[in-house]
Amino acid sequence: EPTKVLSEIELCLSKPPPVLSLDEWKTAAAENSSELADLLQKRIETLDGTVTQLRQAQAGLIATERIAATGRMGLALAHELLNPLAAALGAIELLNSVSTTPKRKQYHDIAVHEVQRASRIINGLLSIHAPSSGERSTIDIVAIVQDVLLLLDKQISHANIVLEVPTELNDHVTVGIYALFYQVLFNLILNAIEAMPCGGTLTVAINYTTTTMLVQVMDTGGGIKAGSQLFEPLFTTKSDGHGLGLYVARLIAEAYDAHLYAENNASGGATFIFELPLLQP
Ligand code: ADP
Repeated sequence: EPTKVLSEIELCLSKPPPVLSLDEWKTAAAENSSELADLLQKRIETLDGTVTQLRQAQAGLIATERIAATGRMGLALAHELLNPLAAALGAIELLNSVSTTPKRKQYHDIAVHEVQRASRIINGLLSIHAPSSGERSTIDIVAIVQDVLLLLDKQISHANIVLEVPTELNDHVTVGIYALFYQVLFNLILNAIEAMPCGGTLTVAINYTTTTMLVQVMDTGGGIKAGSQLFEPLFTTKSDGHGLGLYVARLIAEAYDAHLYAENNASGGATFIFELPLLQP
């Protein structure tokens, strides 16, 4: 650690060895040369150790700065990529309206899907670094769940999934940034749907402890595989996954002093729990 090394050096400098004249050194050396040699040897060893520590600390600092610079560059790049992707998406849509042969339609759908996927990855990366930007306002968790379900309507009916979700609005309200809570619930609900490709039940439940609100997203899919590093960036078991959804969701949770964790259900499937601190009256 650089600060520890610096304080050790300061300590050494604050206690300089007694200053002797050349003659005094010679006499002392003649009288007690082996003791002096030992002392000198020890001093050299200490100095060697300090130099090594300093070199390591310096190398560490350079490595950290390099990583930070790469991160900054990645962010700038990600931001720049969103515009051409949006333009490409617009152009693809226009192309489809010109001619709609079945083959063309198939290529069109692939292109749209892939461009949207790239945009999702980039947005995910950007939100990692700005998890607390935006305006806080009163938000209704049930309204967010409904918005997410509306967007995922196609996937839900396609996979034959039964919904068990609360419908009463205004009962489960908290303060936060809508887009971030939306992102957490979107990631959890999308994962639950993807865990049940052959159908099942998606349940969203909201419960309370004395100090927290628990938003639970449950599925009846295959459950979490042993050894899964769910919240690690880039961890995925899906062929077209990118492994950022849960990582980003947990970063957002942390920005709100909330917790995000998961467990397997006794009856099969998994439950993801987003636990938010209750508002102080
Ligand atoms: P992705 O969905 O792109 O794989 P995520 O970060 O959202 O990225 O999820 C990481 C991994 O966590 C998934 O690939 C999957 O293995 C596991 N996972 C997430 N949600 C569930 C769930 N509801 N049931 C079982 N496994 C899940």
